[in-house]
Amino acid sequence: MNILSSIWNYKCPRCRKGDLFVAPFNMKDPLNMHEKCAHCEQRFVPEPGYYFGAMFISYIWTAFTCLGIVGFCMLVLGWSIEASFALLIFISALSYFFIMRISRSMYIHLDVRYDKEKAMNSNEVVP
Ligand SMILES: [Zn+2]
Repeated sequence: MNILSSIWNYKCPRCRKGDLFVAPFNMKDPLNMHEKCAHCEQRFVPEPGYYFGAMFISYIWTAFTCLGIVGFCMLVLGWSIEASFALLIFISALSYFFIMRISRSMYIHLDVRYDKEKAMNSNEVVP
């Protein structure tokens, strides 16, 4: 599994096998993460406030997405600004938790390096 696939599938950055988030998705706690990797025991929340930096990644994602959607609707499709923003609000509401999760996944992948030995030699988890 390469790093992009690991980020996209919310996998542990060190072994790329364990899951970052507790499944199944729960609306009451959408960012519910495992404390550590079930495969290699990498801690996913090393310190309080660790994911504060993920907000900046989320901001970049959101800003460019908003600009792209509104720009496309207004300049390419010729929609009014009201219609463009209505679509933007709808898409933003749908993608909110996805962006929060992918930002956390990207952030921890920036911080923790892949360890091939950990991926190969760690304990297998039987579900
Ligand atoms: Zn792991």
